[in-house]
Amino acid sequence: PLTTAPFSVRRQQIEALRDQFTGRTTSYPRADGTIGPRTYLDSAASNLRFRGAEAVVEDAMQHYANTHSHLHHGARIMTEAYAQAHDAVLQFVGAPDDYTAIFCGTGVTGGLNRMARVLAAQHPERDVAITTLMEHHANDLPHRKHLRKVVHVPLQVDPDGNAGRVDMTALRAAIHEHGDRLNYVAVTAASNVTGIANPVHAIAEAAHDVGALCVVDAAQSAAHRPIRITGDAPGEALDVMCLSGHKIYAPGSPGLIVARKALFDNHEPEVVGGGIVEFVDAKRYDVTSALPDREEAGTPNLPGSLLLGATLRILQRVGMDAIEADEQALTQYAMSALNEIDGLTIYGSHRLEVAERIGVITLNLHDLPHGLVTAALNDYFGIAVRNECFCAQPFVRQLLGIADEQGIAPTSCTDTCGPRTQPGMVRLSFGLYNTRADVDTAVKALRDLAARPD
Ligand code: PLP
Repeated sequence: PLTTAPFSVRRQQIEALRDQFTGRTTSYPRADGTIGPRTYLDSAASNLRFRGAEAVVEDAMQHYANTHSHLHHGARIMTEAYAQAHDAVLQFVGAPDDYTAIFCGTGVTGGLNRMARVLAAQHPERDVAITTLMEHHANDLPHRKHLRKVVHVPLQVDPDGNAGRVDMTALRAAIHEHGDRLNYVAVTAASNVTGIANPVHAIAEAAHDVGALCVVDAAQSAAHRPIRITGDAPGEALDVMCLSGHKIYAPGSPGLIVARKALFDNHEPEVVGGGIVEFVDAKRYDVTSALPDREEAGTPNLPGSLLLGATLRILQRVGMDAIEADEQALTQYAMSALNEIDGLTIYGSHRLEVAERIGVITLNLHDLPHGLVTAALNDYFGIAVRNECFCAQPFVRQLLGIADEQGIAPTSCTDTCGPRTQPGMVRLSFGLYNTRADVDTAVKALRDLAARPD
């Protein structure tokens, strides 16, 4: 049974998990010649590997073999373990029987590219997609590539001028404007720039109003807050959700598509080859109708998939609600301390409840170049963070005030930023292993840098 333990017990379970991540205590040289432990605050890029899951799959790995040899023990055990990894994914997102989980190669990028192609091909008469101005390029460029027109819906702006979630009024207007030309709305469940979450089920309901679909990029939210395929009402169910293993504590980047099986009806698989055919001769081949096999040609990434499946089962047992509460408390603690630093700007709406965001905080310090701050954090304080535009250039430019609300930027960044400074920010992002001590280390370092901006 899953998540039956009381909340307080599950908080203790989270404490127990913290030490089970590889790389948490890794040390690197500092600029002053000393060697010290790093503080890892770059989980939005990739989170650390979860040893707890490695221990679980170690047993199965004793039988390592390819899934496609059916008659020896090892192959059968691997085939069963791989099927269980699919089940773990479906269970994790609460997918009903009419959904399939497809391991699809590299991360959410692979999943969204594939789904843009599939959906465009399935309904060519619906040649418009709607996405938003807060998306990672992975949830923008594939739609631009495969649909005739992509509409970028603007963002809700709070009274301080900070951009938060998707503007639902503008989104509904765009949905109704395109009506039966609209194929799907593609939206992120949580921003990799501000951490702010979107109301994905309300968005799905609005898309379904005109017979369109809802595609959700769950790259950032899956490991941080509960996310379910189904909503409170039947019309709120998401049609497609894409996930990335490396953002859910599994190594490598097994990508995942969870989607309604019917979306693949009569669709020629994107990748063809071994493992998906029932008959082949020199003239013709018949592809199996079974999902996910039909969409998973070739030898799967067994270690990545098994590790992801085991991780999801452990996260689910602890409970994503407890994990979310833990991360929210840490995020709130960090926000309060960072807000005290003179000259530090945090991006994204501060007015939204902390309940509607994950542990991602982006900032700039005075007008110091973000690259300089990031390098100083690494070289002098052992803190690993990411900087630049986080593959979300339109959003970052808007937050920095160098693109208009339609997401249109000046032709060259150098017009606004000077020849040597590209626009960008510094991003701190948390995983299950981060503690208040990590936040204190970052806050102290940023306070030191703020006090000595020269
Ligand atoms: N979507 C969001 C919101 C992301 O943050 C990322 C990665 O940072 C991606 C998509 C792409 O994920 P991947 O690199 O696993 O393909």
